[in-house]
Amino acid sequence: MIRYGQQDINQADIDAVVKVLTSVNLTQGPNIPAFEQKVAALSGARYAVAVNSATSALHIACLALELGPGDILWTVPNTFVASSNCALYCGAKVDFVDIDPLTYNMSVSALEAKLVKAEADGQLPKIVVPVHLSGQPCDLAGIHALSQIYGFKIIEDASHAIGGSYKGEPIGNSRYSDITVFSFHPVKIITTAEGGMALTNDDLLAQRLGLFRSHGITRDDALMTKPMDGPWYYQQVELGYNYRMTDIQAALGVSQLDRLEAFIKRRHEIADRYGELLADLPLTLPFQHPDGYSAFHLYVVRLQLDKIHNSHREVFELLRAKDIMVNLHYIPVHTQPFYQRMGFAEGDYPEAEQYYSEAISIPMHPTLSDAEQDYVVAALREALTA
Ligand SMILES: *Cc1c(COP(=O)(O)O)cnc(C)c1O
Repeated sequence: MIRYGQQDINQADIDAVVKVLTSVNLTQGPNIPAFEQKVAALSGARYAVAVNSATSALHIACLALELGPGDILWTVPNTFVASSNCALYCGAKVDFVDIDPLTYNMSVSALEAKLVKAEADGQLPKIVVPVHLSGQPCDLAGIHALSQIYGFKIIEDASHAIGGSYKGEPIGNSRYSDITVFSFHPVKIITTAEGGMALTNDDLLAQRLGLFRSHGITRDDALMTKPMDGPWYYQQVELGYNYRMTDIQAALGVSQLDRLEAFIKRRHEIADRYGELLADLPLTLPFQHPDGYSAFHLYVVRLQLDKIHNSHREVFELLRAKDIMVNLHYIPVHTQPFYQRMGFAEGDYPEAEQYYSEAISIPMHPTLSDAEQDYVVAALREALTA
């Protein structure tokens, strides 16, 4: 079976995990700050807060930015549901901005048009969450410029994008955003089994992210609102959660980071090879904007259905029948039953829906061999020309 994405675990990763298992701290040990510092250093953000998933990171990012009832968060429809659910966890409302048909990322012109209308209606968003789909950076400068005019905060959902860069600087440095979020789920670029991280350059936001990660509890004198009772003392100053990462996971993260560059390089080799091998087929291959260097979490092809006899679903099923576990990223969030109960409807975001009707994520991960890639290409060729 060839999966669309999967982890690459080596002996060093295994040794790092085993070492923690026989140590004193299975959680909240030295690997957490080590992992945080390493990610902060490579991405150029001042602070990094490790948590148990990107979903949790998105939630505490919204809490740190004080999203609550009466507020609105905007994201794109073609993302994982976590990008928008985080607003609902906070009692806020969600709305969507359609995508750019070339990059499949948030369209800055659609964002601007929607902001103009929202301002007139008194419905401006408090937070906008652009998603670096498949690892390709969004037009961060364009979104940031609009945030200066309309006063919204930005959380980058960079779940696909660790190791990528934008205008020559690493994704995660949060130059154009308030907070950036990474995911370390096994299909993503590096893994901690489950895990995520929130990065920021802002002292106060970093402090708040730390509080919300662990019950809203602090042992820091400076954050306490009344005097300490004694050395055992802690204070709960916010309503937080238990979103902590274990030391076992952080050790795996530290070890995986050693190969981040190699992973990205291999992903680019695979992408380049797909580019050559698929060039003559009725497919739209991933457009790469010159401002960005993608982490290539996904390799998404769009079927040119007017030139293909089989339907989108038939092509997908023909590949699955050959044990090629293709996938589709993503079902537009606004078409999910839960979201339709809030009033969203098919037809609301035509570009995201058009994309959904044509897209397939074909295998892309560092352990994919050339022979496996050839097998995928042959199967795709057959499905498209049958
Ligand atoms: C994977 C993913 C998430 C959620 O990540 P978890 O670590 O599994 O919680 C959020 N947003 C996007 C775009 C993702 O791909």
